Amino acid sequence: MKRLILFVLLTAFSCIYSQQSAYYQQFANYKMDIEVDAKNFTYQGKQTLDYSNNSPDELRTVYFHLYWNAFKPGSMMDQRVSNQGKNGDYRLQRDGISRLASIPKSEEGAQNIHWIKQNGKNLKYEIQGTIMKVELSETIKPNSKTTFTMEWDANIPMLIRRAGRNNREGIDMTMTQWYPKIAEYDYDGWATFDYIGREFHAPFSNYDVHIKIDKDYIIGAGGVLQNPSQVKGYEKNSKINADTNSKLDWHFTANNILDFAWAADRDYTIESFKAEQGPIIYYVYQKSDKTKFWEQTKPYIAKFYKIMAENFGKYQYPSYSFIQGGDGGMEYGMCTMILGEAKNLEGLLGLMVHEGGHSWNQQILAYNESVRPWMDEGFTSYYEDLVMDTFFPNPGNKNPFSGNINAYINFTKSGIEEPAAWLGDHHDNATAYTYASYIKGELFLVQLSYIMGEEEMKRSMKEFFETWKLKHPSDRDLMHILQKNSGMDLTWFRNYWINTTKTIDYAIQFVEEDGFSTKITFSNKGTVPMPIDFTVRSNSGNQNFHIPLSLTHTWKKSDSSLGKFTSLPYWTWTQKEYTISLPIKKAEIILIEIDASGRLADVNPTDNLYKK
Ligand SMILES: [Zn+2]
Repeated sequence: MKRLILFVLLTAFSCIYSQQSAYYQQFANYKMDIEVDAKNFTYQGKQTLDYSNNSPDELRTVYFHLYWNAFKPGSMMDQRVSNQGKNGDYRLQRDGISRLASIPKSEEGAQNIHWIKQNGKNLKYEIQGTIMKVELSETIKPNSKTTFTMEWDANIPMLIRRAGRNNREGIDMTMTQWYPKIAEYDYDGWATFDYIGREFHAPFSNYDVHIKIDKDYIIGAGGVLQNPSQVKGYEKNSKINADTNSKLDWHFTANNILDFAWAADRDYTIESFKAEQGPIIYYVYQKSDKTKFWEQTKPYIAKFYKIMAENFGKYQYPSYSFIQGGDGGMEYGMCTMILGEAKNLEGLLGLMVHEGGHSWNQQILAYNESVRPWMDEGFTSYYEDLVMDTFFPNPGNKNPFSGNINAYINFTKSGIEEPAAWLGDHHDNATAYTYASYIKGELFLVQLSYIMGEEEMKRSMKEFFETWKLKHPSDRDLMHILQKNSGMDLTWFRNYWINTTKTIDYAIQFVEEDGFSTKITFSNKGTVPMPIDFTVRSNSGNQNFHIPLSLTHTWKKSDSSLGKFTSLPYWTWTQKEYTISLPIKKAEIILIEIDASGRLADVNPTDNLYKK
């Protein structure tokens, strides 16, 4: 009997131990030679890819993304947006008609594979739209490497979404997700998401890329240019020696990023400066009156990296490029493609801070964006609002997140809200996706800072960053750190907020005279339980109180957004009302307010206030 118990214990221990040591990440090392035919918007590509299988699994098949195959009539992207009509992504449709359906043949996107080999031997492959499935001739054993070589050619698509030719501001080539890219393999298996529209996932990779392009072009990229003195735009006295085809060879390297992206234009200007506690910043754009606000953003962007380092964590790469290109704003490794023509400084800076902020939430903390877009977009929006509030404080707002809290409250009444837990591409409605990912993801952190307290939240987010930088964390990894540090059970909150569209709605029900005291009754009219902070203003000043929620089993220790406070007995979540008697005469009370900090996303805030 005793031996059996010992055996069971040992087995249980080894399970826990092996689970804790089970994290791994695959690695890809790309060498690419690209020759661009700028006149015809095509290029020829050669790739050598050293792939490391760090998983405990033997791989028999690998998958590559061929994202540009989406940009043609009849693709899955076209089917999806045709079926969604006006509910689809506004960039992909016009009046509910898919823009992909009418791409002319010459401007369709294509990545045509000529051949692929593994360790010199030809491989069989099958193209399924934007996914290439490759059967291996030799399996890749755990903790071993293999080398793929491949040749292909590509047609640069009409720019409809993120990548392509001739964007609406006249940038010739926006080259993102542009090469055959190996899919991510992790604990959840192969991430073989067809390119329908939303977001990416990839292994961390090193890149060594040569791009030959007609000598009139200037390239901006998310990488380190190895030969600035031999190309146009970067150095004053560069020696430009074009080859016999009048082309220049641009050589970039980048280490440990998820996607090597670049853009080329004949009218680019390159500017650079050093960010405080941050990287070398490159601005790559067409300088004109329409882009005059770029100049004004420089002192803010110079401070941006320092603010992020202080609040979250340090940027991890030597440089970052803001490149005019694409169709709005999209983040890549060490760079972003953004539209550059702005109406005002704040608009352009907000876009730069958002896309630049994805370096932390998407690139350095490389979430699976297709599965958890609310972490990628939501956490980026959280830090965007925090940074923008530092730059342009709005005295009318109770906190940096007030705007999006109000937007969320209004949206819950639309009847089209969908849970944040849904896969990015599977939302029925593009607006519902936006709220689920950007807004609910942001408010996830805002609500947690209300529950745990500002200081604990900030400390935990920094620990999350330090623990998981340059890895692929999931929300489980974040929750582990939040719970460990706060001592609170927070599982319930994660479940309510991400898996459901249930809402918070508390109210001050009764305020009654009770001799020398006042009896206050709060009620929970909503479907998400929360702890309650409230403030009582009387003739003798403000007093703050905290009603902990039974589900957390712990009081919050401190919260600078609440100030000094008194903790009251627990409110059990199963009980709809809560009454407390405070030793203040009712006649002396001027007002009582639930959550004076304005962080609680209560969908009906009008009954949160009692006034004499
Ligand atoms: Zn974003």
